[in-house]
Amino acid sequence: MQLEITQRPNWIEIDLDNLQSNIAYVKSKLSPGVKMLMPVKADAYGHGSLAISLAAIEAGVDFLGVAHLFEGIALRENGINAKILILGPCQENDLPFLTKYNLTPSVSDFEIAKKLSTLNSQLSIHIKIDTGMHRFGIKYDNIEEIKKICRLPGIKVEGMYSHFATADMPEHSAMEIQLVRFDRIVENLKKEGICPPICHIANSAAALSFTSRTQYDMVRPGIALYGYGFSGKPVLRLRSTVRALRMVEAGEGVSYGHFFVTQKNMLVATIAIGYGDGYLRGEPNEGVIFIKGKACPILGRVCMDACMVDASEAPDVQIGDIAECINGEFSPQISVEEFAKRHNTISYEVTTRMARRLYRIYRYKGKMLSWDELRKLLN
Ligand SMILES: *Cc1c(COP(=O)(O)O)cnc(C)c1O
Repeated sequence: MQLEITQRPNWIEIDLDNLQSNIAYVKSKLSPGVKMLMPVKADAYGHGSLAISLAAIEAGVDFLGVAHLFEGIALRENGINAKILILGPCQENDLPFLTKYNLTPSVSDFEIAKKLSTLNSQLSIHIKIDTGMHRFGIKYDNIEEIKKICRLPGIKVEGMYSHFATADMPEHSAMEIQLVRFDRIVENLKKEGICPPICHIANSAAALSFTSRTQYDMVRPGIALYGYGFSGKPVLRLRSTVRALRMVEAGEGVSYGHFFVTQKNMLVATIAIGYGDGYLRGEPNEGVIFIKGKACPILGRVCMDACMVDASEAPDVQIGDIAECINGEFSPQISVEEFAKRHNTISYEVTTRMARRLYRIYRYKGKMLSWDELRKLLN
């Protein structure tokens, strides 16, 4: 037996064709030889890390990036063999797992590096430098500590990197300062014959400015490859279905708190999407959901598992009809970016909130596929 659409009332479509096209576009703009790391942390920004990783590797991404050790282990246990850089800090009890799963740590202090060195595993590491984000990394002026790590036996310093705090704010001076600090370290090491082969600093905003100055040996665009905020194609689409329909008379309140009161008789459609799916609750009476190409205003509060819309303008609405919630086919006002703006947040937060209970389907080489079907093709 298979569940039907109304029994899986909410789903996200993950467009791997768009993902691969975004990767190809950014690659085509990079200087020759520049590598690309795709961040797949936080379940690939909410898109599902395994499918995204498989499609990204097929499209020629050189590294995957995760935040935590366990995210890297999960990819390895699902058969991902690509290089995986752990972007978060590394602690002593991580070391046996790093060698077992061949994961590349970000190293921010000499003590950890020394312990790794004594294991003599020849594991590759990337040194993380704090040039001004003040989150993780060795302080930019502590050149001695960086050199000491580079000279340790038993490990390979494959890379060295930093992260911008203000790359998406072109008028801000901090990015230039960070870049100068990073340049200085690279130059300083070079004088002593120390050249980590992969230096990198550019996130999406920096990589997409396409100045070769921030590219170094690798770029790390995340949000741009997922297709938000830049000229890329969006990868995620959130859809729901009409679960119930009723005529509500004039003068009645709708949903929790009765923040909406009907001024006329109204066809109210109950949509299966709610904040328990990651469809942000926000303020009452804000936003629209599209049914059959018509914008249907949300009435009152979004509930955990449902919300109500005015479906009076949509033609011949039926239970089971598709409701476009985020990134509709012909509805730019519900793009991820616009949805984020309406909720005073950023695209990153909208997509990472997508709930586990959402069903997932994939577009790959023009076909819509279930996870099981996709897995067979991509392995
Ligand atoms: C998440 C992350 C990125 C990607 O940032 P975007 O703004 O999505 O391009 C790059 N580098 C590091 C260290 C990150 O944690």
